[in-house]
Amino acid sequence: MAEKELQTCVRCHYVADKEERYCIRCGAPLKNKCTKEKSLLHKGCSKVNKADAKFCSDCGTATIFSELGLI
Ligand SMILES: [Zn+2]
Ligand SMILES: [Zn+2]
Repeated sequence: MAEKELQTCVRCHYVADKEERYCIRCGAPLKNKCTKEKSLLHKGCSKVNKADAKFCSDCGTATIFSELGLI
């Protein structure tokens, strides 16, 4: 049996399954996505960064964890 991949909520430390996108305990996002939105000049960026990244490693925009004050 393959071991289930897990991830930890950065806000409440709830341990969730890897495929879950939001914490079921506190509603915090579990994926540290880049917040750069699609515009006329840019196609946007949806890179999922490391949990401790304050800025996207692809484009330098703040990540969702940083914007929400989670890190
Ligand atoms: Zn949580
Ligand atoms: Zn980005």
